[in-house]
Order: sequence, then C-alpha cells, then structure tokens
Amino acid sequence: MSLHPSFHSGSITCPEQLSSLQGLDLAAISRVAARYPLRISGYYFRLMQEVGAPLIKQVIPDSRELNDPDGLEDPLDEENLSPVPNLVHKYPDRALFLVSSECAMYCRFCTRKRKVGTPTMSITDQTIAQGLDYLARTPAIKDVLVSGGDPLMLSDQRLERILKAIRAIPSVVTIRIGTRMPCSQPMRITPRLAGMLKKYHPLYLNTHFNHPAEITPQATRACGLLADAGIPLGCQTVLLRGVNDRPEVIKALIYSLLEIRVKPYYLFQADQTRGTSHFRTTIQTGQAIMRHLIGHVSGMAIPTYALDAPGGGGKIPLTPEYIDNLTETLDFTTYLGKPCSYPNTIIG
Ligand code: SF4
Repeated sequence: MSLHPSFHSGSITCPEQLSSLQGLDLAAISRVAARYPLRISGYYFRLMQEVGAPLIKQVIPDSRELNDPDGLEDPLDEENLSPVPNLVHKYPDRALFLVSSECAMYCRFCTRKRKVGTPTMSITDQTIAQGLDYLARTPAIKDVLVSGGDPLMLSDQRLERILKAIRAIPSVVTIRIGTRMPCSQPMRITPRLAGMLKKYHPLYLNTHFNHPAEITPQATRACGLLADAGIPLGCQTVLLRGVNDRPEVIKALIYSLLEIRVKPYYLFQADQTRGTSHFRTTIQTGQAIMRHLIGHVSGMAIPTYALDAPGGGGKIPLTPEYIDNLTETLDFTTYLGKPCSYPNTIIG
C-alpha cells in the first residue's frame, strides 16, 4: 500500500511516548492500545497539550474501552451490508468505499474501531478492484463515498488512480471524500492535492471537527485550499460526552466552521460502538443543544442532528419537535417559546 510520506514522522504510537503527560496510567493505556491502536499525529499532540481535556479525551486510550458490555462490535452492520470486502451498500443510490485502513490519528470513539488501524482491516489492490467492479456493475449507485480509515493517508498518486477509476464509471455522478485530515494533520492538504482532487468534480469533501479549538490557522489554510479548488466542504461532528456536549461549545464550533468555509452538515448522536459507551450522551442532551441553535444562529450554521440507526437502519433525524398539533392548522411553538399557527388546508 502506498501511503503519503508525511505520516509516520512525529506521530505518537507507543504509550511510552506519553510519559511526559501528567496523571496517565501507562500500563492501562498499553492494555487498551494492544486491542485498539494508538496513534496521534505530532500536530494534534501539540494542540491537545495546549487545549487539554476536550482534545485529550478524543485520542488518549481509556481503560473503559475494554469494559463495555453494552457496545456492539459492528453497530451499523456494515460487514453484512458489504457485497464485496470494504464496500458497504446500504442505501439504494450510494455506496461507502473503504480505500485505506489507517488514519493520521485513531479517534477513541471511532465507529469502525473494530478494524481501523488493525490487521483485520485488509485493503489491497484486489479489494480496490473488487469494489470498482461492484460499482461498475451496479448502476443504481450514483454517489460514492470514499472513506476508510482516512483516504488521504494514501499517496496522491494512489488516491488519484482510485478517483480516476471511479470517475470513469458512467453511472457515478458524485464522489465524496470522508476525511479527518483537515483536523488531524492539516499539512496533508497541499496545493498539489487540491489540484488533483479538482479534476474529479463533482467532488465533495466531508471532514470532521468536534471542538472549536481544532479550528487552527493550519486547519483554516487546509480548508481554504480545498474550497479554492471548488470543493464543497461539510463537517460531520460527533456529539461526545466531556468533549462538546454543551451548547456554547457546539455554537462556537459551527460559527468557526462557517468562517473557514465548511458547512456544518451533521451532528451525530454517538454510535453504539463497543469500546465507546463512555462517550455517549442522551438524546435529550443533543436536542437541548439543537434548541439552542435553531432560530438563534444562521440556518447556514445548523447541522442535522441524527442517529445512524443500529443494525444498518440508516440515518434517523433527531431534530427536536416544534409542532404542537397538526390538523387543519399547524400549531407550533417558536424558538422563542411563543405559540403560533399556520393554515394547513388547500384553497382554490
Ligand atoms: S479519523 Fe475517522 S476513521 Fe479514523 S479513527 Fe477517527 S473517526 Fe475513525
């Protein structure tokens, strides 16, 4: 596998490299890292030390990862929804194509932590060829989400070969890239990469920031390069206990995202992934956050709050209920708490 060369320099991959941090149980971290790998990019490690808990919790192994009887190994049933290895075909018109098994850092809450960064996730020329073949013989698929792991772990050349092959399939209309790289290793976004990606339009890129402190000058530059290449950018944030489960944190994040030309796209209720239950909030927490956003901030900044249903049921919007009654009138309560109504009849 041809990986981009910038990754292995300065990354934290061994618990001993964390010995400079206060208050960590390195033996416990080693036990967790033996099951779920540890990797923190040098960039994020420095940022994490400056910012503290909300970033530390996302990347430092926690012993609760090994004691999670409520968690599900494959919460979205992706393995059963894969007609060929590393391609998930859940919705009729789109597919998720996993082209990299690695990431610049391993988020402790990752939905695919059962396999990302471990030997059980095997991506080879053969699995890529099988995925391309499936896309070519399934013309119902119009939209391909290229993900992983993180697809920007691949060298520009290897990634381009994959994008070119997808673009050559006449039935595919849009290509989407799912990557945390603008947050985890923003220097991976280069003018050369942006110039390569823009050859494969219509191409969208969804990235992943969870906290306003992740919007640094480097992240701003990375997103600017992509936006200048005409790539529409979205952000898929995960609601995480102790990281961003307060309205003021999400509000600051979504304002900052708009400022760097990224549309807040989804706010995800955390999946029921084994090893991540300590991150989950209640749905009431997420809905309370949404009530602080809807009406109070520009609609441009409002993500859809959603749950990816366990068992591969697809995304379920969790938008708080504003409608009080729906008969011949729509009765509802505004974001300011004022009752209001609208006629719900056809006239003429
Ligand atoms: S970057 Fe994405 S795929 Fe990689 S560990 Fe984080 S959440 Fe999982």
